[in-house]
Amino acid sequence: MKQLGALVNGKPIETAGTVDVTDPSSGEVFARTADCGPAEIDQAVMAAREAAASWRHVPVAERARVLREISRLIGRHTADLARLEAQQTGKPLRQARRDTEITGRYFDFYASAIETFYGSTIPLDDSTFVYTTWEPHGVTAHIIPWNYPLQILGRSVAPSLAMGNCCVLKPAEEAPLTALRLGELALEAGLPAGALNVVTGFGETAGAALTAHPGIDHISFTGSVEVGRLISKAAADRTIPVTMELGGKSPNIVFADAEIDRALPVIVNSILQNAGQTCSAGSRLIVQDSIHDLLVGRIAETFAAVDIGPALEDPALGPLISEVQRERVLSYIDQGRAHASIRYGGGALNGGRYGHGFFVQPTLIDGVDPASTLGQEEVFGPVLAVTAFRDADEAVRLANGTDYGLVSGVWTSDVKTAHRMVRDIVAGQVFVNTYGASGGVELPFGGFKRSGHGREKGAEGLRGFGQIKTAVIAL
Ligand code: NAP
Ligand code: MG
Repeated sequence: MKQLGALVNGKPIETAGTVDVTDPSSGEVFARTADCGPAEIDQAVMAAREAAASWRHVPVAERARVLREISRLIGRHTADLARLEAQQTGKPLRQARRDTEITGRYFDFYASAIETFYGSTIPLDDSTFVYTTWEPHGVTAHIIPWNYPLQILGRSVAPSLAMGNCCVLKPAEEAPLTALRLGELALEAGLPAGALNVVTGFGETAGAALTAHPGIDHISFTGSVEVGRLISKAAADRTIPVTMELGGKSPNIVFADAEIDRALPVIVNSILQNAGQTCSAGSRLIVQDSIHDLLVGRIAETFAAVDIGPALEDPALGPLISEVQRERVLSYIDQGRAHASIRYGGGALNGGRYGHGFFVQPTLIDGVDPASTLGQEEVFGPVLAVTAFRDADEAVRLANGTDYGLVSGVWTSDVKTAHRMVRDIVAGQVFVNTYGASGGVELPFGGFKRSGHGREKGAEGLRGFGQIKTAVIAL
């Protein structure tokens, strides 16, 4: 069995205790990682502080060169990284491969972005010269979930390093392996030891020690609202900035004039990708009543034909991350069963090809009461909740009728309806006649309302990892 140390100051460090890593496709433990506590976190933060003192002065062109080299090495190791990502998360191999490629793109993108990222001059008056410069925070903490370990590492660590910060990353206990591997590749690419430390372990111990450490200057958190609140409080205690990338209950809103053949595969993919364990999953279908029966029928047919199996066999749908998550998802389905109608799925899958893996059928639930738990809360499983609407006003009310505001999809052939929906939907991203834009590292991403604040991805993502200094010179 693989046993991996945490990566601190460029070296693996072991701990007395370890954390099991389970393959969700088989239910078997296949690796162990270090169980970091306050002592290891302190070592990692100190290493990052030391590295940060010089990394910020490394010329931009050189920082960019190292980031591009990381991207190149990710490219060279795509097959291995994708396999490891698929094995630890249960996501189908081709999705893991895509995630790996997108991760490489983040390092390339932020290498280019930082090379063209400047301060400005401000024409105050004739006797003063005013200019702004961007500076790094110092040491940034990155606390990330298990659903897209590589991609989320890429979108937050790459801009942070580009800006001149050094990083301490805590992956989720369930899926820490690709982060450790990427940390090694970054060293191989020439990133100084200590510039990217990866501390494994549990949230309540390693994560909490990291967010409370006085040597941290900024926190980028991606995960649940519940943990996000704890981390916001820890940051508030020390008045340091945070980026909160939290959950969602994102709708696809389908008008009667939509091109159904075009919408169908995208809507299905938006809820089945990564078994619905995606912050931006299209977990609600809000459909105009005149096409409701047709669309729901076609989604049920599509769900029935989905190939489900172990991640490494590259099916269309893999298992959920853990038994705990499966129980959680099944309890939401039961909640729907009580008041709505299960049009497809609804159960766990065991035995045969599914073995002891954590599989759940793709599940389509029609007539979901928007005010119910299932209509309001993030399920984080392959479960699509359907509600019908009469007109655009009602569609907007339903779309905005949860505490979340991460992503929305609008499907219509009418340009006025499209723009009106973009204007009225309260969400960080609104897609029209598409959904998710396949990763789009260029597109600023983040939540309205309880889905979070701050933006990652795109050129906007760079700003959060820096701070502006204004210089005023009297002439
Ligand atoms: P989670 O339970 O909130 O955990 C996220 C991370 O926080 C993990 O590394 C976890 O560690 C750590 N953590 C837990 N308690 C902590 C504490 N007290 N102090 C510091 N760190 C702590 O979320 P998850 O279950 O991994 O991921 C699913 C959630 O993430 C969903 O709500 C999803 O919507 C959200 N998400 C959002 C985005 C976005 O971009 N908006 C992207 C992906 C996922 P351990 O798990 O190791 O204990
Ligand atoms: Mg967790």
